[in-house]
Amino acid sequence: MRHEDPDLLKAMAGPGECELCGRYCERREAHHAEAKGMGAGKQIDAPFNLVSVGRSDDYPLTKCRCHRLLHDGNLPRRCVISVIALREKKSVEEIEQMIRDVRDAPKKMW
Ligand SMILES: [Zn+2]
Ligand SMILES: [Zn+2]
Repeated sequence: MRHEDPDLLKAMAGPGECELCGRYCERREAHHAEAKGMGAGKQIDAPFNLVSVGRSDDYPLTKCRCHRLLHDGNLPRRCVISVIALREKKSVEEIEQMIRDVRDAPKKMW
């Protein structure tokens, strides 16, 4: 099961501040808190699973290396969840639960 939302991903790209470091980036892209490869064909494009970060392949143009650091495992997942929780006005636990619900319920609409 997948939940893809190209419009949402597009909305989280483009110029703006990296949600993790706050630096202004000419180009950003959405990072999935719960990785794309979390299950066969699973990709969850939903605000509670996404942060907008500077495009790592455009560094130094993007000013920030957050996306690269994330994928290298150098930024704790909890940082990402905290940023999402603040934006979505939920607690870290609530965001974790929402992700878990989707991840563990392959028969749901996702
Ligand atoms: Zn950044
Ligand atoms: Zn990513």
